[in-house]
Amino acid sequence: MAQSRSEVVQAKVTAGVLLNIEVTKVWVGKTTGSQCYGCDHAIAPSEIEVEVELAGSLVLRLHQVCFGIWQAHVGTLHLGVPQTAE
Ligand SMILES: [Zn+2]
Repeated sequence: MAQSRSEVVQAKVTAGVLLNIEVTKVWVGKTTGSQCYGCDHAIAPSEIEVEVELAGSLVLRLHQVCFGIWQAHVGTLHLGVPQTAE
């Protein structure tokens, strides 16, 4: 059975392919025919593309909806981040 778009994106967050970080700086606009980094499908000319710049160099392109799914899952995972003892 095919995974839904939400399941594909969520699996990538869980696997660490999509970083578990809140992205605050994005560009939204018309697509140049990119492949979505979230669901792996092409972004059609009729769809809005979200560009995410990470570490000042890596640029990810996603459907607007896939970006929303990704960001909705940020912070919901507990990846064993070391706690600071005080
Ligand atoms: Zn997508």
